[in-house]
Amino acid sequence: MDGKLGYDDTPFLPGSKYRVHDADRPPPRVVVPGAKPGNSPSDAIVLFDGTDLSGWVSVKDGGEARWKVEDGYMEVVPGTGNIRTKEEFGDCQLHIEWAAPAEVRGESQGRGNSGVFLMGLYEIQVLDCYENPTYADGWTAAIYGQYPPLVSACRRPGEWQTYDIIWEAPRFEGDKLVRPAYLTLIHNGIVVHNHTALFGSTGHKRMPSYQPHPPVGPLMLQDHGDLVRFRNIWYRVLTDYDQE
Ligand code: MG
Repeated sequence: MDGKLGYDDTPFLPGSKYRVHDADRPPPRVVVPGAKPGNSPSDAIVLFDGTDLSGWVSVKDGGEARWKVEDGYMEVVPGTGNIRTKEEFGDCQLHIEWAAPAEVRGESQGRGNSGVFLMGLYEIQVLDCYENPTYADGWTAAIYGQYPPLVSACRRPGEWQTYDIIWEAPRFEGDKLVRPAYLTLIHNGIVVHNHTALFGSTGHKRMPSYQPHPPVGPLMLQDHGDLVRFRNIWYRVLTDYDQE
């Protein structure tokens, strides 16, 4: 190998400029993992670290996000409306933790309802479906109005739950959709969507459809009138670095 870490006499991989075990193939970038699962790694962009909402604005008026922050979490203040990040991003790995109110109130869509909207348009349902049935495509972790989760992985109300999301933004060429959005979602460590293609942006009682939009957008959280909490929100950009 002449001191090289690899080979220069092996076959080329199909459609690739690199050989099997190619000595000249660039090594992967180093990322330092978080101390514990769920902790942000070294290349994460933290959207909410539990201290303040300086990275967020009200969707209603573009002003300050008026949700409550205490003890390391934010909580919906009903009537203040949805909030969104100032950051805008596309393809990503996103981590978010949430808890439905410990005090159980309401049923079906009326119990612990909120939502995680990727790019402000595509909703992953947040709902307390622990011993609380509702329509399947409105379940906890559903791609709302499109796909129920593969399984119901809810913890009890009041307990912290995790969503780990791998998001591929839709691609448009002019007004034309050339590739739909794809979502993979892990709820409390359990795969509930596996590279699922979305029909379009989220609606209520309507056919989802795509409207062209920029390649990046904010993360939006929903005020559905329930006292849902969120904490530890971060994402990593999924760069298209050379994988040939
Ligand atoms: Mg919702």
